Amino acid sequence: AKSEGRGTYHFFEAGMDATLQRRRMLETGLHDALANEGLSVLFQPIVSLETDTIVAAEALMRWEHPVLGPISPVEFIPIAEETGIIHAIGGWILDAAAKAAAQWPQHVRVAVNLSPIQFKRPDLIATIRSALETAKLDASRLELEITESLLLEDSQSNLDLLLAVRGLGARVAMDDFGTGYSSLSYLRAFPFDKIKIDRSFMADVATKADSRAILGAMISLGQNLGMTTVAEGVETAEQLAVVRAEGCTQVQGYFFSPPVDGAAMVAMLDAEKSS
Ligand code: C2E
Ligand code: CA
Ligand code: CA
Ligand code: CA
Repeated sequence: AKSEGRGTYHFFEAGMDATLQRRRMLETGLHDALANEGLSVLFQPIVSLETDTIVAAEALMRWEHPVLGPISPVEFIPIAEETGIIHAIGGWILDAAAKAAAQWPQHVRVAVNLSPIQFKRPDLIATIRSALETAKLDASRLELEITESLLLEDSQSNLDLLLAVRGLGARVAMDDFGTGYSSLSYLRAFPFDKIKIDRSFMADVATKADSRAILGAMISLGQNLGMTTVAEGVETAEQLAVVRAEGCTQVQGYFFSPPVDGAAMVAMLDAEKSS
């Protein structure tokens, strides 16, 4: 409630750094949100360039703080990671995503982001399995998106967990490909099913030959390694044309659709079915 939220200001000392105050509010707020159904999930369609139909959707977490309003996951996920609540909210979105996808046509997969922190708990596999079982969703319909920061920490145990995820029958995608400094060596160390080319590479592909060459090289690399390639952040018809001409497999971005709620996602899939 709003009055409750206002009241919490009294706990802070006068002159306490505003950033720190906000941070404390977000920390407590996240616990409340988890306990009181304050989190929600949107889905952004991923479109095949072979069939021009939706083949998957990425689940993206949303949270509206009762006082501070909508908070970006870019702000709250790192806080969740530092406080450890990421394990609980990560489990929550796996459940929500699996439940939603169970209502979609069989050929449509759901992609869920995993934080590197979630890999610190071996029970991650049990969490994933339980989400699939509760929703009665086949593992082959789940994709897990992982940024390379995970693999930075080397380690054999991360690799084992990733292999266990694949062992369940789920797919694994490298997210934000190209943004880290060792994307290439990770491709060698781990057999990803898919690479998602970061949207920063889409910026001027339609106008700059160099940018287009880099995008094309990333797509070829993925192809040569037998991976599905996804271009993220496709916003314009011009970008789409370039991505298509370079042979990318799938696209995601505002050009097709922003993230939408579960009902709108179902409506989009229904509309495709009848067209
Ligand atoms: P991400 O995994 O790279 O997700 C894609 C982000 O790009 C989403 O932002 C999406 O709304 C945005 N996007 C999609 N198409 C376009 C486009 O055409 N143009 C532009 N400018 N942006 C586009 P969002 O939802 O704000 O999420 C930001 C990040 O927060 C995600 O980046 C992901 O790293 C993290 N995140 C979101 N939900 C979760 C979650 O459930 N778990 C974890 N661990 N991280 C999450
Ligand atoms: Ca992602
Ligand atoms: Ca991404
Ligand atoms: Ca990102």
